[in-house]
Amino acid sequence: MIILAIIFTFSSCTRDKNAVASIDIEVIEEEIEVVPPVVMVTYEEPVLNIFFHPLVARPEQAFRSTRYRDFFLEWYVTASEYRNFLYEMYINDWVLVDINELYEVTNIDGVKRVNYIKPLIPEGKRPMILSIDDLNYYDFVRENASVHKLVIDENNLIAGWTPGENGDELSYDLDVVTYTEVFLKQYPDFAVRGARGIIALTGYEGVLGYKTHLLNAPEYQQEKEEAMKVVKRLKELGWRFASHSWGHANMPDVPMERFTRDTNRWDAEVRPVIGDTDLFIYPFGARVEDIPERHRILRNHGFNVFFGVGLGFTTRERQTHLYMDRRNVDGNHFRTFRNRDDKVFDFDKVIDVEARSIR
Ligand SMILES: [Zn+2]
Repeated sequence: MIILAIIFTFSSCTRDKNAVASIDIEVIEEEIEVVPPVVMVTYEEPVLNIFFHPLVARPEQAFRSTRYRDFFLEWYVTASEYRNFLYEMYINDWVLVDINELYEVTNIDGVKRVNYIKPLIPEGKRPMILSIDDLNYYDFVRENASVHKLVIDENNLIAGWTPGENGDELSYDLDVVTYTEVFLKQYPDFAVRGARGIIALTGYEGVLGYKTHLLNAPEYQQEKEEAMKVVKRLKELGWRFASHSWGHANMPDVPMERFTRDTNRWDAEVRPVIGDTDLFIYPFGARVEDIPERHRILRNHGFNVFFGVGLGFTTRERQTHLYMDRRNVDGNHFRTFRNRDDKVFDFDKVIDVEARSIR
């Protein structure tokens, strides 16, 4: 803490027109080693859940492409918008919390119970859970908008990889994961106890940019091993993983046969790559809570926490599971929430108007 006092002493009388006021400035500078203690409190209000898709790293390409322009404008944000978003949330006292700290699973006499745990966070802050859907880098997304995959660089950092005209290009600010890491280097107190976010993955076009869905391809083993290295590093950093179904299935509507096949296939193809998880993020936000048979199947596959789409402040504690809804941040959100009072950040400070007007 620095206490700076400036004392002005006027030695002349202002009534004397010819006198030049002389100003003596005395600076008292005192440095005291005081770090204000962080008081941790139990947060009683609902936690905010917010999710993104992979970022539009090349708006000049994504928003010009005729076929996917509207899709990316509607359901994605640009890398610059994500960077603005993080800073806005940070300066408005939001902090990241780890989903793993917010529930516990007990098994008493063979009966499983899933209970919500209120987060312990610094006083005056507001907790937020971050998630990213479909961080698979589907072909049409990486060819038109995003980085191509996540890799580990020579310094053991996660980087975004994109093939460039002059060879490989590594980036650190064009993807949710890489930029969040950069941001937390500068503002580590944004993450409570090292919290990161949840990465939700399907399986039909591989994971994280690796072709782990081509089980019989000659390069399968190598792709799987590289993906697993990235997963391991992400977990060390605090990132969590969730199922987003294998085929981005509409879980309430698909025929039962496809429902079970999809669930089994995710277990067979994705779980071995990302490891065990009990988090399930519904594709399209389409819940099966009201279809007991289907929900039981998902719970029997080991899922305890389910995420849908909504305003982002709902947590329902059921005995058999936990349900949370999440708020999408994308062009659709910018439009539908523009005139609403329940925005959680200032859109004008986040939206990249220039990028969104590219045609
Ligand atoms: Zn999705």
